[in-house]
Formats: sequence, C-alpha cells, structure tokens
Amino acid sequence: MLRLAEKVAIITGASSGIGAETCIQFAKNGAHIVAVGRNFENLKQTQNSCMKINPNVKCLLIQADVTKDTKKIVDQTIAEFEKIDVLVNNAGILANGGILDMDVEQLDTVMDVNLRSVFQLTKLVLPHLIKSKGNVVNVSSVTGIRSFPYVLSYCVSKAALDQFTKCVALEMAQHNVRVNSVNPGTVVTEIHKRGGMDEKSYAEFLKHGRDTHAMGRVGNVSEVAPAIVFLASEEASFITGALLSIDGGKGIMCPR
Ligand code: NDP
Repeated sequence: MLRLAEKVAIITGASSGIGAETCIQFAKNGAHIVAVGRNFENLKQTQNSCMKINPNVKCLLIQADVTKDTKKIVDQTIAEFEKIDVLVNNAGILANGGILDMDVEQLDTVMDVNLRSVFQLTKLVLPHLIKSKGNVVNVSSVTGIRSFPYVLSYCVSKAALDQFTKCVALEMAQHNVRVNSVNPGTVVTEIHKRGGMDEKSYAEFLKHGRDTHAMGRVGNVSEVAPAIVFLASEEASFITGALLSIDGGKGIMCPR
C-alpha cells in the first residue's frame, strides 16, 4: 500500500484506458476518486470497478469536457470533499498528419485538449494543492521527448506539456507542491482507434510495436497506472519535475 489513504484525487479521462485504471489503483490505495470524463456510462463502469476493489473509498463522477468545464470540475470536487490532494491530467487525444497534409485547426483541437485544458485546470486546482501540499501528475508520452513524423500536433502538444511539467514544478517547489509526468510508449487503449486507425491498421501498429519498443512488445494500462499513483503518493515526496518514461525502452532506441 502507498501512503494515499483519505487523499482526494481528480483524474481526467477517467472513462477509458489509462485514466480508468488509474482510478482503480488510487482506490486500491485508499484515495477518494473524482472521475472526470464526457462518457457517463463509461464513468459509471470506472466507479463500479473502484467500489469493487475498495468499498471504503468514495468515487465522485463528474461529466465534463476538460476544454470547457474546468471550473465545474473544481467546484464540484470542493463541494463534495472540501479539499484536493492530487490532480492527474490524463485526458488526451491523438490525431494523425504531417505539416503538408494537416490543417491548423487540427493543431488547435489537439492543443486545446492536451495542453490548454491542462493549463486551465491546473491553474484552478493549484491553490487547493498549495493548501494540502499536494501534487500534479501529467500524462505525457514518449512523443514529448522523442520526435516522430506524421503525428505532428500530438508530438508538439506533449513536448509542450513536458515543459509545462518542469516549469510549474520549479514554480511550485517553494510551496511543497510536486509536479511530475509519466511518458508512456504505446499502450493498448482506445486512443489510436479514436484518432482514426481502423481495426486492421491498429492490429498492424501493435505488431510493429514489437520492433519499436526495445522490450519487444507494447504496454498495458496496468503497467502505467501504478507509476502515476506512485508519483502522487508520499513515497515520491522528493520527486518533482520528473518525466518518467514507461515505454519498454522505446525512448532510448536509435536506428543503427
Ligand atoms: P483513451 O482514448 O482510451 O482515453 C482517453 C480519455 O480522455 C477518455 O477517458 C476520454 O473521455 C478523455 N477525453 C478526451 N477528450 C476529452 C475532453 N475534451 N474532455 C474530457 N475528457 C476527454 O486513451 P488513453 O487512455 O490511451 O489516453 C490517456 C492519456 O495517455 C492521453 O493523454 C494520451 O495522450 C496518453 N498516452 C497514451 C498512450 C497510448 O499508447 N495509449 C501513449 C502515450 C500517452 P471521454 O471519452 O469520456 O470524453
């Protein structure tokens, strides 16, 4: 067990993939959950899984779009719990395209979800984290650290998120508020299909993942969520500004 009992953790993108599993891992370690997403049916499934693993924690569901409803997320959390200890900025989208074939609207959309909403929500939550000496975990990507062609807006958004993590970590250190990120490689979730891949291309992409990850395979949500929860816990009390690669070695590979 990590030291998280009675902590209140907001997790965005809690209705699917890495975010849903992160809620379950927080619940397992005794934290109360604020699960944020747009798809309410999926949020309810996350809630059921949290209750199943630990019936002693509360799981508040907030149906919200992170690009529009950041104040609602903070207001409803404070109304229910009167404090916030952890913010996990996990909601994100992926879009394919390179400079010659994508339009600037795609860049705006991706930046809006993957960066601008993070800025807005973090700014609203930080006064509460300063009070609780809490922390932020951003869900970035290997694409923030390394460069890949034809996922331009996504790479740019995650690279910007990594600077956001490090700059805010420096600003918040004096308040004992830590800010870190995890940077996963390919993880099996809905994001690639939602970003436009059909079943066949997705299967090929996962197969190709055997070559693009040093460990010869892609990852699972159960390999990412525990690291998020660790960074959010007291066990990580001297870690701030860290970008933690969880990528089976993808980020350290070089062609030769
Ligand atoms: P999923 O597509 O499975 O989940 C994405 C989540 O983000 C959903 O819960 C979705 O909620 C939420 N979301 C998206 N847009 C919004 C919005 N405007 N408002 C509120 N919620 C929103 O993907 P993953 O679990 O893979 O993605 C989670 C994070 O992990 C992302 O930041 C992604 O970039 C990152 N990541 C993923 C990798 C992977 O290979 N899977 C690799 C590296 C990083 P809803 O549908 O309810 O709106």
